[in-house]
Amino acid sequence: MSKDKKVAIIGAGASGLLCAIECAKSACKVDIYEQNSKCAKKILVSGNGRCNITNITFTQDDYSSQNSSFVKYALDAFSFKEFVKFTSSIGLLLDIKDDGRVYPLSNEAKSVANLLINHAKILGVNFFTNTKITDIRTLFKNYDVIVIATGSEAALHLGGNADGLKFAKEFGHNIIHTYPSLVQLHLNSSYATKMSGAKVDGEVTLFVNNSKTVHSRGDILFTDYGVSGFAVLDISQVASESLINYQVVDIVINLLPSFTAQKLSSHIMKMIDINSDIIVLDILHGLIPIKIAKVVLDILKLSPTTKAKEINTKHSKKIANQLLNWKFEVTNTHGFRHGEVAGGGVDVDEINPRTMESLKQLNLYFCGEVIDVVGKRGGFNFAWAWASAFVAAKSIAKD
Ligand SMILES: Cc1cc2nc3c(=O)[nH]c(=O)nc-3n(C[C@H](O)[C@H](O)[C@H](O)COP(=O)(O)OP(=O)(O)OC[C@H]3O[C@@H](n4cnc5c(N)ncnc54)[C@H](O)[C@@H]3O)c2cc1C
Repeated sequence: MSKDKKVAIIGAGASGLLCAIECAKSACKVDIYEQNSKCAKKILVSGNGRCNITNITFTQDDYSSQNSSFVKYALDAFSFKEFVKFTSSIGLLLDIKDDGRVYPLSNEAKSVANLLINHAKILGVNFFTNTKITDIRTLFKNYDVIVIATGSEAALHLGGNADGLKFAKEFGHNIIHTYPSLVQLHLNSSYATKMSGAKVDGEVTLFVNNSKTVHSRGDILFTDYGVSGFAVLDISQVASESLINYQVVDIVINLLPSFTAQKLSSHIMKMIDINSDIIVLDILHGLIPIKIAKVVLDILKLSPTTKAKEINTKHSKKIANQLLNWKFEVTNTHGFRHGEVAGGGVDVDEINPRTMESLKQLNLYFCGEVIDVVGKRGGFNFAWAWASAFVAAKSIAKD
């Protein structure tokens, strides 16, 4: 047993806290260092204050990395069943939604943070808050094992930074270029401010170098810089990674995915038949938010007050095409400040997937988002933080 092993964990976020608990259970002496005055700031704001703590369906297909098979061992080792065993052991009960997302039964993210922190304290973990580690080599002189659990650059205001990457580089690790993910997108559109605030339940399809890649359906919110909303966040990982690789990125928005072009055009012609005095703006406002309707008519050079009787089949087809296939150039993302997570990070080819130990430096471990692994929206990023931390702790305890 590792009774006398001294372990320093840098970062008291999701992965650092779970790793601390599992190491302390095996009687390691654990110190955890946190730059913020409060631990687990990202857990506290996650899932809009409810914390989408994991997802019962996670597989390696839910993650992006230079080598996505890297995650498999950890995800299998810390399966959902193991996760439930862990949360039950700290008194945290779960609420499993029909689509697989999991939340704390309390419906409060702070219950997750509090129970993790309090349990770690009960097990004797020493917390050093307001303590930013800057010199990892000096820290190493006082410990047998160092765990880098510093997270990513996402959400800078919550403590996101690139410190872990800097530490990894000191030990010769290769870093995969990082980029924000689960992030809003900037569009090249002179109409953005006019549509700002309008929201639809639509479909967004991403094109990279003119080839269709991913698509998603759900909320699309127009903003003064571009677009936000769940459907946009879902395609943002591929968009953001493509942008940093200087590829041409476009999106096509379908504002009314339940319509075909034919059905929509027929609907418009039917409205004209029913009431030839209705204005075209009202026909569109019966389908989409008014701010968007006005812009669509502007693009098609139709006056909003045009009477229905002046609209012909050609017009109705053009309107339908605009509503169902609206193309925008993506110029940027909304940045690390607003991204929920980051892609890229410490190269997985230089980390042992079964232990999370560095292949460059003995007794140096990584867990969580600092590694080049990024998950989809829906609890998958926490699932990775927990699983990688668990595997690291098991290895530290066993050695
Ligand atoms: C707004 C928001 C909502 C989210 N919602 C969800 C969700 O519902 N479900 C989901 O799965 N994921 C969600 N995520 C993502 C999730 O929070 C992260 O993937 C997860 O927290 C990563 O865990 P981690 O331990 O790797 O890093 P973090 O939780 O970021 O922890 C890293 C810690 O290290 C500290 N640190 C950094 N550098 C140093 C240093 N030099 N010295 C000392 N301490 C340092 C940081 O202050 C931080 O506390 C959300 C993220 C954000 C920003």
